[in-house]
Amino acid sequence: MEHPLIEAALAARHAPIPPTLRSRFHAFHRAHNLRFLLVINLLGQAAYFSYALADLLAVPDIAALSLATRTAFLLLTLPVVLLLFRRARSMRLLDMLLPALITLAALIWFELLTHSRSPNVATYQYASVIFIVLANLGVRVHYAPALFWSLAISAATGQGVVRLAGGFNEATLVFSLVYLPVLFFSLFISWTATHHGRRSFLLAQLDELTLQELLHANGRLRTLADTDALTGLPNRRQFDAEAERAWYHARQRGHSLALLMIDIDHFKPYNDHYGHPAGDACLRRVAGLLASHMREGEYLAGRWGGEEFAVLLTPAGPELAATVAQRLVDAVAQLAIPHGHRPDGSDVVTFSIGGALSSEPGVASLAMLVERSDARLYQAKRSGRGRAVMG
Ligand code: GH3
Ligand code: MG
Ligand code: MG
Repeated sequence: MEHPLIEAALAARHAPIPPTLRSRFHAFHRAHNLRFLLVINLLGQAAYFSYALADLLAVPDIAALSLATRTAFLLLTLPVVLLLFRRARSMRLLDMLLPALITLAALIWFELLTHSRSPNVATYQYASVIFIVLANLGVRVHYAPALFWSLAISAATGQGVVRLAGGFNEATLVFSLVYLPVLFFSLFISWTATHHGRRSFLLAQLDELTLQELLHANGRLRTLADTDALTGLPNRRQFDAEAERAWYHARQRGHSLALLMIDIDHFKPYNDHYGHPAGDACLRRVAGLLASHMREGEYLAGRWGGEEFAVLLTPAGPELAATVAQRLVDAVAQLAIPHGHRPDGSDVVTFSIGGALSSEPGVASLAMLVERSDARLYQAKRSGRGRAVMG
């Protein structure tokens, strides 16, 4: 849903942020640019205060006034800056704080200069280009406010220069010719920074979406790879993995676990007479029966292959294993799936079970547990089918 929206925004020239992503956009900037904005505000404050020294040398007649004014500026605005960075949630506001304060600083500085009689004023006023440069270098989030404050700073600078020159004349023209390229250059920088900020955000969103989609697809693939398509039970792969895990835990905790191998009786004639689709349906019903008897975390049923299933009980002693095995044997008979082609006289589907316990002597590995269950399954078959043979 968001994918095409983000791709369209990225393809557009200005990489505009779709309205639905605005709050995430600001959160992104909070995470990535808050510290930068705070530092550049503090550096701006320090730089503005330090210019009292330059005033002392260039315009000594107003040095005291300059120091007093700059100190007052610092004392009044620094707490506001610190408070806003601590409390304000709006990145738009924090992004605009520096240009807004610079506008005020520019007005104050030109006011100071008009009180000086120093011959240096005409050249010293050129230092004011730092205002527009610093304001535009600091912008990170929104370009439109940056443009607005650039005009405000330019207006403050312009009125100061005109006042110092006593009107529009050659001096103001020269200043304008110096100032305008600096203005456009710094606006280009702030445009590039905000454009880059939008693109970084959009690309990060795209990465995040792609990652989520991959994780989701991966989860689905894993489920598919672990599930038997016909019955929906865990397939042999997953059953083996779970059995390994269960074996390991049982060993660690000193528990015993039981494995029941289950094989449907006379299933070949069932298939031969009722057809493969009916055979599949029968396998599904038997699988459903096994699944319905499993207890979360304690019993695991899986399809071993063909018409064979396996059940793992953990933890399980001999009584529990025998009880569950008998219950399953009874339950499949109670399903009463007709099987009129058995050679042994019975007329419903049954299965045989061979079971073994990990605590039995001579069972030292999972493979041995499987082997022993399998051997008992064939005992169950030989002794008449439709029954469970345990230890
Ligand atoms: P026994 O009681 O000794 O186990 O006899 P049986 O006929 O069940 O044993 P046999 O191994 O000879 O036959 C197993 C049959 O299971 C053979 C095959 O047709 C059937 N079968 C195995 N997998 C599937 C399956 O996925 N779908 C269907 N419909 N049949 C299957
Ligand atoms: Mg078989
Ligand atoms: Mg069979």
